[in-house]
Amino acid sequence: MAQYVGVGKPAITLVSGRDYPRDWNQFLDWFADEGACVSYLEQLRWPEGFVCPRCGAASEPYRSSRGRLMCRGCRYQGTVTAGTMFDKTRTPLRTWFAAAWYLTNQKFGVSALGLQRVLGLGSYQTSWAMLHRFRRAMVRPGRERLNGKVEVDESYVGMRAPSKPLTGVRLKSHTPRSLVAIAIEAQEPKGFGRIRLRRVPTASETYLLPFVCGAVAPGARVYTDGSHAYRSLSKHGYVHHPRVHLGSDDPAHVSMPGVHRVASLLKRWLLGTHQGAVQPGQLDYYLDEFTFRFNRRTSRSRGLLFYRLLEQAVATQPVTYHRIAARRA
Ligand SMILES: [Zn+2]
Repeated sequence: MAQYVGVGKPAITLVSGRDYPRDWNQFLDWFADEGACVSYLEQLRWPEGFVCPRCGAASEPYRSSRGRLMCRGCRYQGTVTAGTMFDKTRTPLRTWFAAAWYLTNQKFGVSALGLQRVLGLGSYQTSWAMLHRFRRAMVRPGRERLNGKVEVDESYVGMRAPSKPLTGVRLKSHTPRSLVAIAIEAQEPKGFGRIRLRRVPTASETYLLPFVCGAVAPGARVYTDGSHAYRSLSKHGYVHHPRVHLGSDDPAHVSMPGVHRVASLLKRWLLGTHQGAVQPGQLDYYLDEFTFRFNRRTSRSRGLLFYRLLEQAVATQPVTYHRIAARRA
């Protein structure tokens, strides 16, 4: 998981047209060149003014013509992107910004191929790695756990295997499946709140108990099926409501409508937007993106999502292409 280096941001009301672009035309006005993008990132990374990453001194740095900042105290030199997700990138910041804008303005996101086409990127790998870096910025650390009435269950998610014949032997096509634990706030009288998702190796207590403890605040009412995996939830501070399915008169989509809905949206998204091209080892990051989108589905402004994504991106540590690609298997 991505590590965050940012500090708590002051709670301010963000305004469209002031804090983030209102629309694409304004986007083009604001981010006409690299310098404009650098200034915007600086504002996001240090909303109260520059803070030296090395000595912690907060004072206006010396500036060189090439966008380097130098601490007046310890003489540390760096750029606004150093130590963030954009560290040492060879892709212009304008392109990163356009990718973030496109990614957050498409309701269902975008595939690597789709992004490559719309931005005219030179290679599929560049596009693929950009999207993966953004996914690593989509989960905010220290986010609040789910509360109130929460449904918890697991669902299998299918992903098509790459159909590359090995050594001339035609392999039987099979669909790798991953088990995903799902938690969702059920609002009363109706509707749903936020979700949390995690890939788990099996539906056992070993994996599901830590998932619930990490995703749901103690004191919440947790609705599960009658599985043994959830038997000790009340000992962990939850008001547990296990439901035992007897016969076919109480199918899962009736007793757990939230989990059922999320599971079917997730499957459709993986097979639709991403055309089933997700590798099991990469699924965690797609779950992060799905969660980011789902939890902000009622957001009035797409521009606000763009702001949040970049804000979290400058608080996300660098990750190499090698490390991203290593999780392909
Ligand atoms: Zn310093």
